[in-house]
Amino acid sequence: MRNIGRMEKIKILVVEDEAPIQELLQFNLERKKYRVKVADSGEEGITLAGDFQPDLILLDIMLPGADGLEVCKKLKGDPKTAPIPIIMLTALCEEADIVTGLELGADDYITKPFSPRVLLARVKAALRRISITKPVPNEDLINVHSISIDIGRHKVAVDGEDISLTFTEFKVLQLLSQQPGRVFTRYQIVDAVHGDDYPVTDRSVDVQIVGLRKKLGTAGKYIETVRGIGYRFKEEE
Ligand code: CA
Repeated sequence: MRNIGRMEKIKILVVEDEAPIQELLQFNLERKKYRVKVADSGEEGITLAGDFQPDLILLDIMLPGADGLEVCKKLKGDPKTAPIPIIMLTALCEEADIVTGLELGADDYITKPFSPRVLLARVKAALRRISITKPVPNEDLINVHSISIDIGRHKVAVDGEDISLTFTEFKVLQLLSQQPGRVFTRYQIVDAVHGDDYPVTDRSVDVQIVGLRKKLGTAGKYIETVRGIGYRFKEEE
């Protein structure tokens, strides 16, 4: 992680209006030596994101005034704050909001009520993704779980055995496996894989995934369905 070398703490901004949840987040994050600042409203969150320059933002969706989705849109639209990963905090019933938030550029979400263990695992995964995805932009080989992907040659092997994928299946696998743990909505998958003349719809993404899992065999389980939202590639432990 980028700050460790300078012995600086990793900074996390919490945007949440409910005091008990603020305290729960702050307590658990500070216990893990993160430096935490809390904003009570969306407006304050936007200001603090600029001033405090956090490494990660935990953003509640249901906020008084500007809600979490508006805040997400503002932060992702400003080049100064756009690269900061955002984890949304939501209720389970806010599926449509979760999808919107992910499509606005949020990295992940946690549903309330959450356990400290889940919270810390998601925070760690999001921070790890910044450290893996940034320094190696032209990584040509992905090795994750039992799968190796050679991007330049369009080749995939599971446990050393080559498997043959269609162009679209390959693109879907590449997208998901480059950011393990990150949730992608169907629309984001379509957007990332479809060529100019290739009609991929959000439902056909499901079909691609079924085919892909089947071809991956024992490794098919690493592509996880996130109900009502989309798909994610399982993180390595
Ligand atoms: Ca709230």
